[in-house]
Amino acid sequence: MSPANDFSVKYWGVRGSIPSPGAHTVRYGGNTTSLEIRCGQQLFALDGGTGVRLFGDALMAAQPVRATILMSHLHLDHVQGFPFFAPFLMAGNRFDLWSAHHNGVGVADILRQLFNQPAFPISMDMLKAEISFHTFTPGDTLQFEDVTVKTALLHHPGGSVGYRMEYEGRSFAHCSDWEHPAAGLDSTLVDLVRDVDLLSIDATYTDDEYHGRAGPPRIGWGHATHTTALAHADAAHVRNTLLFHHDPARTDEQLDLIARTTLAHRRDVQFVAEGQVFQVGQPLMLPARA
Ligand SMILES: [Zn+2]
Ligand SMILES: [Zn+2]
Repeated sequence: MSPANDFSVKYWGVRGSIPSPGAHTVRYGGNTTSLEIRCGQQLFALDGGTGVRLFGDALMAAQPVRATILMSHLHLDHVQGFPFFAPFLMAGNRFDLWSAHHNGVGVADILRQLFNQPAFPISMDMLKAEISFHTFTPGDTLQFEDVTVKTALLHHPGGSVGYRMEYEGRSFAHCSDWEHPAAGLDSTLVDLVRDVDLLSIDATYTDDEYHGRAGPPRIGWGHATHTTALAHADAAHVRNTLLFHHDPARTDEQLDLIARTTLAHRRDVQFVAEGQVFQVGQPLMLPARA
């Protein structure tokens, strides 16, 4: 049982675009987006990438499960774990899934496509959990008992939703997937995350990758760089920042190298790794960067 005012975030998947298991991603992890957020007795999940399979397996030991699932958007790397989310199969569990409508499509439509022959043998009507779907318009503020969730539309192909969760005087924001503007700052994102205690933000590319000095230019692909993500976090006076949505080709060694060089002077920033848990409002527990 969680303490009454616990506000924690656990990362079950931190990788962008496609799962990337292998010898070079063992430490930071290869599963795609899945976050577990605890606000006292309330359980939230954010997205259903492949990390949600392990999250679901952990929840099976604590049934019945009652959770609110917030969707950033519906790209495959954020939904593809749901067919293997075991608590959906079990009677007595209850889930409320929230998504914006992206070009008229909500999370219910995507799940009906995923749980469908011939792509997958289990159909939606075989799921025994009680599952309810809800939609909102980005910019809306959602209220879940004593947790306030602010939303904003982020710049990403097809759109993406950034979330700001406020609970017991502390705040956590998650902004992925998102691409920074060509010049200046994205005021929508800065306004959403201003003064938060903890922010996870898209930092898929290096500057060289983004501008085409290392492979093809990634401009317009919908993702930010480490430096642009940090510039926005700093402009918004974010207390601690987690760089998130690692490129599938990014190795553990490369992330360590960037942390030792670009981030070496910062105690308020780190690349987030699969399995890490953060207490919102607490300082980061940074690994040694020597
Ligand atoms: Zn993504
Ligand atoms: Zn995306």
